Amino acid sequence: MPEHQLKEMLVFYNKKQCVNESVGYSPSAKKPKLVVYAWKQLGYPITIKKTRALSIEEIAVAHDQNYVKGILSGKFKNGFGNKSLTVAKSLQWTTGSFLCAAVHAYLHKSNTFSPTSGFHHAGYNYANGFCTFSGLAIAAILLKKQYKAQHIGILDLDSHPGDGTANTIHKTESEDFITHYSLGYHDIQKHNNAEWLENLPNLIRENFADCDILFYQAGVDCHEDDPEVHSGHFTTEQIYLRDKLVYSTCSELKIPVVTNLAGGYQKPVQKIVDLHNLTAKAFQDSP
Ligand SMILES: [Zn+2]
Repeated sequence: MPEHQLKEMLVFYNKKQCVNESVGYSPSAKKPKLVVYAWKQLGYPITIKKTRALSIEEIAVAHDQNYVKGILSGKFKNGFGNKSLTVAKSLQWTTGSFLCAAVHAYLHKSNTFSPTSGFHHAGYNYANGFCTFSGLAIAAILLKKQYKAQHIGILDLDSHPGDGTANTIHKTESEDFITHYSLGYHDIQKHNNAEWLENLPNLIRENFADCDILFYQAGVDCHEDDPEVHSGHFTTEQIYLRDKLVYSTCSELKIPVVTNLAGGYQKPVQKIVDLHNLTAKAFQDSP
């Protein structure tokens, strides 16, 4: 008898979303490949799903069109602070991975995974903090426009404020159909993080109960050992608990979840991969 049935993990991934050249401090451009490989190594049933690159017009539903063109043509610096056309091209695939994962989750009411990062500091017409395009706002707006989704939730548990997400939601006047919660706006430290976690199911019920879909940024830079930790300061066990509470509560509310990776800056990169492995484990261990 198997201990319990493993759940299929639908991962929207194409190697074109990765950049192998060094892009400086953030490991996010090469992380998708490492994390997908690690999840497979754990023996979880991974199904790699097809993605595509987004067009300028699709990206521009959440951004100024001249900004989008400037980034993709190498005229403006991307969120990594360079004008690399290789990086620019990969951004059409990271946003594409997230959109494809979101569309599938919405249409099939199933949980999906997009091994992407680098969205939540990108504003309507600016790049910042390793982020260039708001894959979250783009997917939310396209789900509403093309698939008639009524209400989209963004639960951003990366350590830093989702200031770019807030900016794109505001500039595109999307407040009425997107609910956004970002851990980074709250002062969660050692002394109050256990309490915050205990309340997380209620936080999800109160903010997102009527959402058709939840976008979940499962960032791991909120770990206590991360050199960039801002809000959270969670232990390894608390990161696992956080993810388990997200999946259990959304399962109870029957809301499909699209999970992405967001931030993580520990060295060596294996420490980050180990934390993202806990997200997969929490998913498997949830109802
Ligand atoms: Zn972060």
